This record gives sequence, C-alpha cells and structure tokens, in this order.
Amino acid sequence: MNRDCIFCRIASGAVPAAPIYQSAEVMAIRDINPQAPTHLLIMPREHVSGILQVDPDSPIWRAMLRAVHEIAGSAQVADGFRLVINNGSNGGQTVKHLHMHMLGGRALMWPPG
Ligand code: AMP
Ligand code: ZN
Repeated sequence: MNRDCIFCRIASGAVPAAPIYQSAEVMAIRDINPQAPTHLLIMPREHVSGILQVDPDSPIWRAMLRAVHEIAGSAQVADGFRLVINNGSNGGQTVKHLHMHMLGGRALMWPPG
C-alpha cells in the first residue's frame, strides 16, 4: 500500500468507490473521467507502478485477464471493447499504479491519438 497513491487508497477502502468487479487480487472501478459510455479501470490491489514493474509470469496478469473475461459477459460491452495500458509519459500514464482501461459502449476510432 502506497499512501500517496489514489488507486491504493481506493483498493484499501480509504477512498470509497463502487467496484464493479472484485477478486482477491484485482478490482475494477469506473473511470472518474469516462472517454466512452463504458470506461472501466482494472487494477491489481497490490501497488505496482506500471507494466514493466510486474514480472511477465506474475499471477497478476492472469487475475486481470480473468476480470476482463468476467466483465465481457455484461451488457455494457456486448458489442466489443478495447483494452489499453498507458505506460510512461509518452504513453499518457498519469496514475503510477498499474491499470488497464476497458472501453466500450460505442464504436471506438482507430488509430488512437
Ligand atoms: P492513465 O492516464 O492511463 O494513467 O489513466 C488514469 C485514469 O485514472 C484516468 O483515465 C483518470 O480519469 C482515472 N482516475 C484518476 N483518479 C481516479 C479516481 N479517483 N477514480 C476513478 N478514476 C480515476
Ligand atoms: Zn498504488
């Protein structure tokens, strides 16, 4: 737990949130500034600052993908979705706690900006 990290504070319950998915390792919340009708953030409860700080063989990845599979069954992403992990300043990462964006509910443009 990193007390300065907003996602750690949410995961610990210090900042209230309404998780739309929870497991022992992972939670998913709605993005506070949604870029699509459905915009979820899937994150590990454990503080890891980004994609390169997690071992490729870590069970965190399996837990995050399990969350995707569970959420994908819901109506809000029935017609498809996009997964995004922003990394570093050029990648547009603003919160230094690993999270995956899950966007859906409308046709998304490609390429991204
Ligand atoms: P990124 O820019 O990839 O690091 O994504 C961080 C995301 O977290 C942004 O889309 C923000 O809108 C979102 N965000 C920041 N603070 C909160 C919060 N307290 N609750 C929900 N989403 C948040
Ligand atoms: Zn954190």
